[in-house]
Amino acid sequence: MIIDSHIHLSLYNNNAKSLQDVFGLFLEEMRKNGINSAIIIPDNIEGSDSIADLDKAIELIGKRKNLFLLGSPQIIQRGSSELEKYRKLLEEGKIKGLKFFPGHDPYYPTDERCLPYYELCQELDVPVLFHTGENSGDSECAKWNDPKYIVEVAKKYSKLKIIITHYYWPKMDYCYEITKNISNIYFETAAMADAEVIEKSGGIEKVKEILRKTIADRPDKVIFGTDWPMCKIEEHIELVKSLGLDSEVGEKVFSGNSLEIYKLTI
Ligand SMILES: [Zn+2]
Repeated sequence: MIIDSHIHLSLYNNNAKSLQDVFGLFLEEMRKNGINSAIIIPDNIEGSDSIADLDKAIELIGKRKNLFLLGSPQIIQRGSSELEKYRKLLEEGKIKGLKFFPGHDPYYPTDERCLPYYELCQELDVPVLFHTGENSGDSECAKWNDPKYIVEVAKKYSKLKIIITHYYWPKMDYCYEITKNISNIYFETAAMADAEVIEKSGGIEKVKEILRKTIADRPDKVIFGTDWPMCKIEEHIELVKSLGLDSEVGEKVFSGNSLEIYKLTI
């Protein structure tokens, strides 16, 4: 079974004319790549015609039992004021965790406006996911999501499950070293098979080495995700298959860990 735990519904990198079209394309991609289930991450931009926000994503997925959502609080626009909204969504199971976008937005993971959300997620035992690393064509933005801040959050909220996505590319070694003794940090693989990410991060062997070490350290804490449609699902499946993992560990990375960490029932 494969769960893709990092999907966006957006018009980037495809020929779709509408978000409804994108959703159709995504279902087709799932079939083609043998993806059984997915977590869709609504963007923190709201009301756009080119990327689905939470309301649009809820509408698109309808009653499908194999598709799940995260919430994306608007830290810059609304600070901590959406806490009760997200508590309700989490308690009702409509979303499975919260994603933060430091680097897309100018705030640090340690920003005090974020802290009530971390407390909430710790209390409800649901994960938070941090976007990390550079954005394509913008290396400056990585200053906002340096894993040293994420380590601070992990130490302050020691029972909070904190997932790092994109491995703070291109500085994957640094991210590995600074997080390696922090047990409540998890990783998710989105964008790690992308050509630009691989090239800038030191090549495919470097990316594989980092993933092998991380999975050896944390076999229960690495989750498969792709960042489709920005990145290709099949390249991410290939990357994980190329690591030569034991079948039991491979199964955990492809689906078991996500089921466990996000508490999904399919
Ligand atoms: Zn993403």
